[in-house]
Amino acid sequence: MSDCLFCKIVRGEIPAKKVHEDEHVLAFHDINPIAPVHFLIIPKAHVASLYECEAGHEPALGRMLAVAGRLAREQGATDGFRTIINTGRVGRQEVYHVHIHIVGGPDVLPGMLKR
Ligand code: 5GP
Ligand code: ZN
Repeated sequence: MSDCLFCKIVRGEIPAKKVHEDEHVLAFHDINPIAPVHFLIIPKAHVASLYECEAGHEPALGRMLAVAGRLAREQGATDGFRTIINTGRVGRQEVYHVHIHIVGGPDVLPGMLKR
């Protein structure tokens, strides 16, 4: 059994406010939202980060992107949103189970990262 936090959410051992679930992916609200719309899309099968992803993960990774727009719109991000995948130390990844952040809402987000 994995000790991974997001695997525990997949197994229902930790509660989460679910947005979507299918055979490949789960989406749920971020516990500490940084915008009016902020949810995470994860593969149900554990993979730590984009560094560990390979061809076998393509169905889940594809599904994560394929549902993002519809779910964002359903959650109220009707005029754009940002997708963020933090990877590793430099990317400041905190939870080592791949996830896409979907961040949006009515307000315009800050511009791209700058030096
Ligand atoms: P990272 O920095 O790894 O890209 O983002 C991890 C995200 O997971 C953070 O935005 C954090 O708020 C969220 N998070 C951490 N623990 C939990 C939890 O137990 N439940 C939910 N729903 N989100 C969590
Ligand atoms: Zn996991």
